[in-house]
Amino acid sequence: MKSPNHISLESVREEPVSFSFELPFSLKALDREPLLELSRVSLAGTIRRIERGFALEARCAFRGQLECSRCLAAYPFSVEEPFALLLYERAPGVGDVREIGRDELDVSLYEGTELDVAPIAEERVQMAIPMKPLCREECLGLCPQCGQDRNVRRCECVAAAADPRWGALEAVRDATKSQKV
Ligand SMILES: [Zn+2]
Ligand SMILES: [Zn+2]
Repeated sequence: MKSPNHISLESVREEPVSFSFELPFSLKALDREPLLELSRVSLAGTIRRIERGFALEARCAFRGQLECSRCLAAYPFSVEEPFALLLYERAPGVGDVREIGRDELDVSLYEGTELDVAPIAEERVQMAIPMKPLCREECLGLCPQCGQDRNVRRCECVAAAADPRWGALEAVRDATKSQKV
């Protein structure tokens, strides 16, 4: 039985062949902590023969929810990116992708006549998830002392922190107050 997530390489002859897939991934299988939700991953493009292999050009699109590494809030993200991949058959003489990979191009090895597109899509997803996701660049995060989300409200802990600059500021403020009285 043919798997639905495969491209038959034998069907690729003179002309490029178009393909379009909608791939479901489980969060468990992806195993990336900040990823809270993921849509189906759409992978669409063309594949054509090149010398000793195939060239794949595709667009990968998906969206979901990530957890901000500073404030722990869930926020939506979406990715739609074009990419290109060279595919060479895994052969006894070709042990390492780096031997044949030209630096600027992604290279992958395949075996047999059916190309499984799931690992290709998964790699795009893995690369798109940041190590430290941020809901926004200037996210203030949670207060390490009281846990208050500082994007929502400033807590009082800041003044109590052992930062001499705050002490100096207080002194100035007190001085101003007493002058007014
Ligand atoms: Zn945040
Ligand atoms: Zn606080």
